[in-house]
Amino acid sequence: MSKKWVYLFKEGSASQKSLLGGKGANLSEMINIGLPVPPGLTVTTEACTEFYRQGKKLSDEIISQIEENLKLLEERTGKKFGDESNPLLVSVRSGAAVSMPGMMDTILNLGLTDIAVEGMAKKTGNTRFAYDSYRRFIQMFGDVVLSIPKYKFDHALEDIKEKNNYKFDTELTTEDLKAIVQRFKKIYRDETKTEFPQEPEKQLLMAVEAVFRSWNNARAITYRNLYDIPHSIGTAVNVQSMVFGNMGDTSGTGVAFTRNPSTGEKKVFGEFLMNAQGEDVVAGIRTPLTIDKLNEVMPEIYTQFIEIANILEQHYRDMQDIEFTIEQGKLYMLQTRSGKRTAEAALRAAVEMVEEGLISKEEAVMRIEPKSLDQLLHPRFDADDLKNATPIAVGLPASPGAATGKIYFTAEDSVSASLRGEATILVRKETSPEDIEGMNTSKGILTSRGGMTSHAAVVARGMGKCCVAGCETVYVDEIKKTMVVGDLTLTEGDYISLDGSTGNVYQGSIKTVAPAISGNFGKLMEWADEFRKLGIRTNADTPKDASAAIKFGAEGIGLCRTEHMFFEESRIFSVRKMIISDNVTQREEALKEILPMQKNDFKQLYKIMGPRPATIRLLDPPLHEFIPHDEEDIIELSNEMHVPVSKLKDIIHSLQEFNPMLGHRGCRLAITYPEIARMQARAIIEAAIEVSSEENIDIVPEIMVPLVGKKEELEVLRELIIETAEKVKEEKNSDLKYQIGTMIEIPRACVTSDEIAQYADFYSFGTNDLTQMTFGYSRDDAGKFISAYKEVGILEVDPFQSIDQVGVGKLVEMSVKLGKQVKPNMHMGVCGEHGGDPASIEFFHKTGLSYVSCSPYRVPVARLAAAQAAINNKDQ
Ligand code: PEP
Ligand code: MG
Repeated sequence: MSKKWVYLFKEGSASQKSLLGGKGANLSEMINIGLPVPPGLTVTTEACTEFYRQGKKLSDEIISQIEENLKLLEERTGKKFGDESNPLLVSVRSGAAVSMPGMMDTILNLGLTDIAVEGMAKKTGNTRFAYDSYRRFIQMFGDVVLSIPKYKFDHALEDIKEKNNYKFDTELTTEDLKAIVQRFKKIYRDETKTEFPQEPEKQLLMAVEAVFRSWNNARAITYRNLYDIPHSIGTAVNVQSMVFGNMGDTSGTGVAFTRNPSTGEKKVFGEFLMNAQGEDVVAGIRTPLTIDKLNEVMPEIYTQFIEIANILEQHYRDMQDIEFTIEQGKLYMLQTRSGKRTAEAALRAAVEMVEEGLISKEEAVMRIEPKSLDQLLHPRFDADDLKNATPIAVGLPASPGAATGKIYFTAEDSVSASLRGEATILVRKETSPEDIEGMNTSKGILTSRGGMTSHAAVVARGMGKCCVAGCETVYVDEIKKTMVVGDLTLTEGDYISLDGSTGNVYQGSIKTVAPAISGNFGKLMEWADEFRKLGIRTNADTPKDASAAIKFGAEGIGLCRTEHMFFEESRIFSVRKMIISDNVTQREEALKEILPMQKNDFKQLYKIMGPRPATIRLLDPPLHEFIPHDEEDIIELSNEMHVPVSKLKDIIHSLQEFNPMLGHRGCRLAITYPEIARMQARAIIEAAIEVSSEENIDIVPEIMVPLVGKKEELEVLRELIIETAEKVKEEKNSDLKYQIGTMIEIPRACVTSDEIAQYADFYSFGTNDLTQMTFGYSRDDAGKFISAYKEVGILEVDPFQSIDQVGVGKLVEMSVKLGKQVKPNMHMGVCGEHGGDPASIEFFHKTGLSYVSCSPYRVPVARLAAAQAAINNKDQ
């Protein structure tokens, strides 16, 4: 039997998303549960892949299956393609397995021909409507299928309107529309050198091919790159019998969410327009009415719609995003899918659904995309600063958050300004899919038109970007690059601030403050903690970072990089004195000045951390980083330190390296300058003893040695640290316990981990250096080629962001295994950037690490990702 390339809606189900696309699978499901859906068919995603395999051609088998199913559709609807009295008209829409809103092209009213248009006129008793639909169809078909520039059609239309002195399209008469159809067909002929196709079957096949081709248009590719959607999966095509929302005052169309997608509130939230087609709502061309108003316009339809919305939410057990059309007083459902929502809404909906008994805690935890929590961890406006600010305009609160930046009026300008390092706000009349990169690089988006479901609003929410939409009192002139509000004119580069939660727009910049975890966020985090097995620590070097991380739920410090403490203004002088010292005695003198400062740093950290563990790492970067290189600065330093410029230059020269990343850093520094390591060990142990007794807690310092590649390095330094620590303990009459461990960040350390483990009480994987050294990609230079590597498919993701599981990951696994052979209970964590990346966290969970450590603001992301990893791998 030949392969099935085409399914009637009634043959599919929600479980077939990858074959039928999200839209097709859900249309099938809605039919299965008895909802009013216009019948149709889906050409599968496999047919799309086959189309590309055949050199962008539909195979005979696919064509004949489309034709057979079309016959069934004709039987089902009682209408006939191209019929002179009752013609079948269809919409043709793309629908991939993963939703890509507004990314691909749609064709409406397909099936209209010179004969069918008369049939439609007869059937509806409305000739004007029939010809209006026909001219729209010719334009859409010409544009989408044959790339005839839209403006050619627009000009022809404007021309006729001007000649007749009309202001609105609604003033066009039937005769005008018939003339426009003739003009449009001529444009089609001139542009394509062929007649506008008069066989609906041919129109359909051309449209299906166009949708398949649109899978690879530039904006679809950009969208997939942005959201890591594989390019290979293809799209399905849905062919559905048309219903008309623009057939007069008892017709209409709308979109709605079963809960508020911005806040998560349990109340149907949506918009509709009477006498309009679906595209008018989504494109944001006319500003629609809120869904409760439907209760006034058509109360019965409203009640039926709310019922269906509830059925859908209960059936899918998730918040739905629904499209509907009312045709002459009859309601039809055109789409349902899981609704895109802000993180705030996702949390509220998930928590409330658990409370309503709709889903379990485990499901709630799985529902939240860890990275989306970033949105809640964005700064908000400082309340005091906000009091002094007066809004200049109020729009719709389309996507929450606070943003301050310079205004730009085109996506390109906004992208270039962002590349220059500016914080930008993209200001547009309305956005379209072409603006996606500008939206992505801006801090916030402001539009003067469109509703809560306009392109700007939907895409901004998906990106977690602050957006104020439909701000109608703002006049945006994209040519002059100005926005005018009353008497105020702002031009490109001026500052504004947006509050996406209230819709307020302010002139100038407003200070922002850090967020906190509370309410639904706090509750979901607690649930996540019940499931996760991995501990969560933070990379923090300052008391401020450490306190922030604790508020976000960090259970310890996984990495304190002590170098930052050397850079501080007040102590850099002593550090430099230490570096330019000629001999050990001089160096020790300088280190004596640094010791109390370091000790004080550690005491502060220990006080904040209390009994929580904290891993403190010995100095890692090469010494020349602490010495200036500019002539002017060198002269200044020479004056300050009373050292001749020439001597300073000699020292700087002698410290210079060709390849500092592979040079005199990490434990190599501690071995050649043991007095530095001794000073740091003393500072740590003294601080721990003092805080332990002051606070009456048992601190167990974890002292970590960086960049170990040979067991001998650790052996030497371990001895040095023990010697120092024991001396301090004796001086202070203390029985403090401490641990000495190592970073595992050199491939050699991984493969000889059984040897190194003999000298280590703990391991912390430095996956930044491990990635650098395994790939041989310099951490400082990889940016130059990584995006090119991603584009040609050599790399799927940047290995510095998400761990390369098969290469670098294998080394981690090997090291864990070898280390545990020697010390089965040794604690092992990771403190490279990957410690905050959800995919990497799942890998570390499976590898059996004890904890991940990440920057403070990623702690909640890591808590949730660790819980999801545990749930996903429950059976292993
Ligand atoms: C690492 O290499 O992964 C690490 C955490 O250390 P650093 O980034 O300081 O080199
Ligand atoms: Mg490192």
